[in-house]
Amino acid sequence: MDSLVIVGASLAGLSAARAARRQGFTGRLVIVGSEPHRPYDRPPLSKAFLAGDLGAEDLSLEGPDEGLDAEWLLGRTATAFDPVTREVVLDDGRRIRAEKLVIATGATARELPQLAGVGNATTLRTLDDAHRLRELLVPGGRLVVIGAGFIGAETASTARRLGMAVTVLERSAAPLAGVLGPYLAPVVAQMHRSAGVTLLCGTTVEGFTLLDGRVSHVHLTDGRALPADVVLVGIGAQPNVAWLAGSGVAVADGVVCDHAGRTTVPDVVAVGDCAAWWSPRTGSHERIEHWHGANGRAAVAVGALLGHQDGTRPAEPPYFWSDQYGTRLQFAGSAAHAETVAYEHGDPSEDEFLAVYYAGTEPVAVLGRNQPRRFTRWRKHLTKLAAQPAAETAVPVTS
Ligand code: FAD
Repeated sequence: MDSLVIVGASLAGLSAARAARRQGFTGRLVIVGSEPHRPYDRPPLSKAFLAGDLGAEDLSLEGPDEGLDAEWLLGRTATAFDPVTREVVLDDGRRIRAEKLVIATGATARELPQLAGVGNATTLRTLDDAHRLRELLVPGGRLVVIGAGFIGAETASTARRLGMAVTVLERSAAPLAGVLGPYLAPVVAQMHRSAGVTLLCGTTVEGFTLLDGRVSHVHLTDGRALPADVVLVGIGAQPNVAWLAGSGVAVADGVVCDHAGRTTVPDVVAVGDCAAWWSPRTGSHERIEHWHGANGRAAVAVGALLGHQDGTRPAEPPYFWSDQYGTRLQFAGSAAHAETVAYEHGDPSEDEFLAVYYAGTEPVAVLGRNQPRRFTRWRKHLTKLAAQPAAETAVPVTS
């Protein structure tokens, strides 16, 4: 009987394991994960967990009786994959046969080398990071957030709720402009400012003053010095793919995959934040770092791995939600090629609106603010549109 090894024991890895069993895989199933924890949910780490509303016990991704019949190797890191012997090599020297392999190693938060080992500065990716940050967020303290992406914005929002003074630094002209496009990025900027956050855009950090192993000031290139009790570095994440060197699995910004997660090595697929799937709609490889992709695409990739019909099912367009300042933002599709935006409901000055992005007359993305019903309708429509070309276009992973 074949063995299936999943490297990465988080959302994508667990979803792949579930999909394999659901799709009838009865062989040996091994799940390897660097973290000592069973799979847990990351989105609350910048929201309810950070605010103290949830404990670690509330974050489990597993149901009470999953019955996966899997071997869990936690606290163990895969260091290589040998495509000839088809073995995954672990950091303790063990070699595990993997006739079939799922790469689900996610991403690691980018760090600033100047802040290595500094007590009051952290990134936010893991439960351990979140525990540390939770201790540091105290009422009246001053938090400086470097990077106004989702994690920076959500942490700023939580810290405001906890009574901190918050400054957010963003290198671009507006937060999230790359994701939401130039039309709607200012909405997010306004959300920060309305909540009393100081948002400084077009700003770069030059350095830090360190006192007794702690940051006391963040220095900007324009000469300003910001006093800080806590610094959160939220400057994105990089895919965990270094361990694949020499495996034959092609890697660029993430594992290079076709539209169903197949890599350049037979019987090896990749899914989740580490994987750059071919998108027939945008004509490029896209590495999507959202919960829904890591969860939903696992079934497609496993279907392709097991040679089932699911492997030809098109992936849904990217979708994410973000909770900031008491508001739920939901976005689906890609704003990269959008030319215009039309408001189906409300407008950006209101607490509720729904905006549809168009390339010519074709809808390519949708953003909702506190508009879950209308948003879901549009998301389904975009999914239907995405299905049309994807089903016909199998693009080689090297394109
Ligand atoms: P990860 O969750 O990164 O898991 C990968 C796992 O693989 C890790 O446990 C890692 O230790 C392990 N690993 C890495 N290398 C190896 C190796 N060589 N050997 C063994 N194990 C290895 N998305 C949304 O859509 N909405 C949100 O509101 C939202 N909020 C978020 C808030 C935070 C603070 C964070 C960090 C993420 C958030 N996300 C959100 C993103 C979402 O959580 C991720 O897209 C999702 O966790 C990706 O799952 P993954 O399994 O692909 O990767």
